Amino acid sequence: MWDVIVIGSGVSGLGAAAALARQGRRVLVLEQHSVAGGLTQTFTRGDWTFATGVHYIGGVGNIAGSSGQIGRLLAWLTDGALRFVSCGNPYDIVRLPGFEFGIPYPEERYREALLARFPAQHEAIGRWFAACEAARHSAFVMFATRGMPQWLAWGMHLIHGDEVEHWAQSTLASTLAEVPDPQLRAVLGARWADYGAPPDNAPMLEHALVTGSYNAGAYYPAGGPARFARTLVPVVEAAGGEVKLGAAVEHILVTGGQVAGVALSQGGTHRTEHARHVISAMGIANTVSCLDASTAPAWQDTLRGLRPGLAHLALYVGLDGDIAAAGASGANVWIYESEDIGRVWHNVEEDDPPGLFVSFPSMKDRTWSGKPTAEVIALCDARAFAPWLDTAEGRHSEPYLELKGRIEKRLLVRFCAHFPALAPLIRFHELSTPLTQQRYLRSPGGAMYGLEMTATRLTSAALRVRTPVHGLLLAGQDVTGPGVAGAFMGGLMAAAVIEPALLRRFGS
Ligand SMILES: Cc1cc2nc3c(=O)[nH]c(=O)nc-3n(C[C@H](O)[C@H](O)[C@H](O)COP(=O)(O)OP(=O)(O)OC[C@H]3O[C@@H](n4cnc5c(N)ncnc54)[C@H](O)[C@@H]3O)c2cc1C
Repeated sequence: MWDVIVIGSGVSGLGAAAALARQGRRVLVLEQHSVAGGLTQTFTRGDWTFATGVHYIGGVGNIAGSSGQIGRLLAWLTDGALRFVSCGNPYDIVRLPGFEFGIPYPEERYREALLARFPAQHEAIGRWFAACEAARHSAFVMFATRGMPQWLAWGMHLIHGDEVEHWAQSTLASTLAEVPDPQLRAVLGARWADYGAPPDNAPMLEHALVTGSYNAGAYYPAGGPARFARTLVPVVEAAGGEVKLGAAVEHILVTGGQVAGVALSQGGTHRTEHARHVISAMGIANTVSCLDASTAPAWQDTLRGLRPGLAHLALYVGLDGDIAAAGASGANVWIYESEDIGRVWHNVEEDDPPGLFVSFPSMKDRTWSGKPTAEVIALCDARAFAPWLDTAEGRHSEPYLELKGRIEKRLLVRFCAHFPALAPLIRFHELSTPLTQQRYLRSPGGAMYGLEMTATRLTSAALRVRTPVHGLLLAGQDVTGPGVAGAFMGGLMAAAVIEPALLRRFGS
């Protein structure tokens, strides 16, 4: 009998497990993959190590107040072993044909840079920042209520419900429609791939929350994202817990409305593990698929109605030589082929991607010891991959490999077109597709960030840390929103339901 079972070893699951371990709880973490860390895991090919789901993180700088809160919590959990380095300033660059704009922090500097570049847009810029502030406030209220007991959440809803509803229902596109200058519009809206919904669907609340999380700077884990698992797993183990890899949960056991444990398979054998608290940080669809249909059926139906979001293609590029001299920096580069930044890459078979995100991790992490890399990402519609997504042999099939090869070449050509001086330094490249995301993370539909980011999802009363099943708690990006910071806080919120003493840490 464990004190708590946590399903999924992403930053959310490990964050929850480590926080509980710090309170003396014996926690069993179950991870289906052979590597811990979820989207913080890295992989190595020859001399190059690549990150799968981390390019920059907000809230982890050495800053007083709420802007440094996540960093302080992680430092507490890991005894300072997990450290972060600044990605530099500006930390994001938006590149359109014939135009480039670097986004600096803090927010005041960003605003000044916009005013200097677009002096005629004074009013529109003022309106934009006012909208961001109001939407961000609503976001904090909304996510805080996710972790509260129902009665308290209801009270918050009475006070702030209309405001939250307004900013959840307002789209990024509708807020941008009040900005007359197309280049300014493109700069303000460019970073929607940070949460995976194009401006026409993106809730303004989420856009303001995610982009605002970098207002106090953008950071990268020193030593790479794998440091999350390397520093959090020992904390779990030191309190008598375990992190079991290759352990796929198949069933969440519920008896008389109370969670009782899980059934899992590991190395071909099936067994059960027991606990009166289970935190599921493996995604909503995976959680629901592990429950009997008779368990809280109405709640399950609501969750089943939430669809997976957009997928992505990632080109991992290994380089050799002085990439800084060839144009690489610590800033992420958001490249769009036109000022219309809201287009989704639907026809991956025939078309070039309308936008690319490019990151150079070795330029961010001064402790980097391997050869330099570039990570090139394009969001896409996963439909082209549908024939192979749910089949065991799909990734070996000829048509899939042929399509993958074509896309890889196309992305490489686009990367070289935008960074011509880097082209001669390329020594290695490999593409990941929605099949990769599904295989290593069990992400339904190969989605990049789990559930589709919509107003329905944001305002859903079913997506709360507490569930109708006693002792079963939800964590992870599906509950508190995409991003390392959001997923981590979701894990801590679930842990705090079991150990309310943790709440004191949130304010420290
Ligand atoms: C390409 C990409 C780039 C990104 N860039 C950034 C960025 O720069 N900054 C940022 O803040 N965020 C970024 N993100 C988002 C961020 O990585 C995620 O939001 C966050 O890491 C999610 O954490 P999680 O713990 O909720 O989920 P995950 O990391 O997905 O962990 C879930 C875990 O559950 C496991 N699991 C699933 N089913 C089972 C089962 N049945 N039994 C046992 N285990 C199971 C999975 O294997 C996985 O390890 C990026 C994401 C992607 C895909």
